[in-house]
Amino acid sequence: MSSPPRVLVPGARLQEGERVVLPDAEARHLRVSRVSPGGKVVLLDGAGVRAEALLSADGREAVVSGLAPVRGEPQRRVTVLLGVGELARVEWAVEKGTECGAARFALVAAVRSQRAHVAAAAAKLDRLRRIAAEAAKQCDRSLVPDVLAPLPLAAGVALYGRPLFVARPGAPRLAPGARGFDVAVAVGPEGGFDAAEERLLDEAGAVPFSLGGRILRLETAVVAALVLLVDDDAP
Ligand code: SAH
Repeated sequence: MSSPPRVLVPGARLQEGERVVLPDAEARHLRVSRVSPGGKVVLLDGAGVRAEALLSADGREAVVSGLAPVRGEPQRRVTVLLGVGELARVEWAVEKGTECGAARFALVAAVRSQRAHVAAAAAKLDRLRRIAAEAAKQCDRSLVPDVLAPLPLAAGVALYGRPLFVARPGAPRLAPGARGFDVAVAVGPEGGFDAAEERLLDEAGAVPFSLGGRILRLETAVVAALVLLVDDDAP
C-alpha cells in the first residue's frame, strides 16, 4: 500500500480542523503528482509533528483531520559535526545522513577544510537545508535535520559535543553503548582533523572509534558512523 504524499509545511500549527496553506512548491508538486482535491496527504511541520490532512478543492490548502503518530525518528538524536569538504560531498553527506537518522548537521570549518569549500557551504546553506527536507520526506521521517553554518571545531564541540564521539582511523571499534541519550559525532574533512583539533576532541572527552581498515571519504564516514550510532528501533 502506498502511503499518502508527504508535504512539508515548516512551522505550521497542526491541529485537527486547522486549514494549512501549502507552500507553492509543495502545492505544485502535488498537482504534478496528480493528487486529487479531497485526497489524503501527510503534513510535516519539520520539527517532528505529523498530521493527516485532506487537500482542498483548489489544491492550495489542506485541512488537518488528525495528528499522526511520529515515525522514522530514532530515540537518540545524533548531531553530526561535519568537517567541510567539497560541496558535492557535503550535499551527499546531508542527504544520506538524513536517511540514516541524523538529527542535525553542524558544519565545521576545520583547519584542513579548504577556504573555498567553507565559503561554498556557507553560501549554499539554503540548498543544503532543502536537500535535508527532501530526504526527510522521501525516507518518511518526521523531523527535518537542521544544517548549521560552518563553525570552528571548538565552537561546534562547545555547543553540541556532549557526549561526543569522533570517527578516527586506527581507533578501536565502537562498543555497543547505552541508549536513549543524545550524542554528537565528529567526522573530519578530506585531509582529516589536524593534531590540535584531535587534541581538542580528546580533551573534550570524545570517544574515538574506527570505521574499519580503509580510509573512507567523509560522506561515506558520515553514513557508516550514523549506522553505528543511531539506535534504530524507530517505528
Ligand atoms: N586523510 C585523512 C582521512 C580523511 S577522511 C587520513 O588519512 O587520516 C575524512 C574523515 O572521515 C576522517 O577525518 C574521519 O573522521 C573519517 N574516517 C575516514 N575513514 C575512517 C575510518 N576507517 N575510521 C574512522 N573514521 C574514518
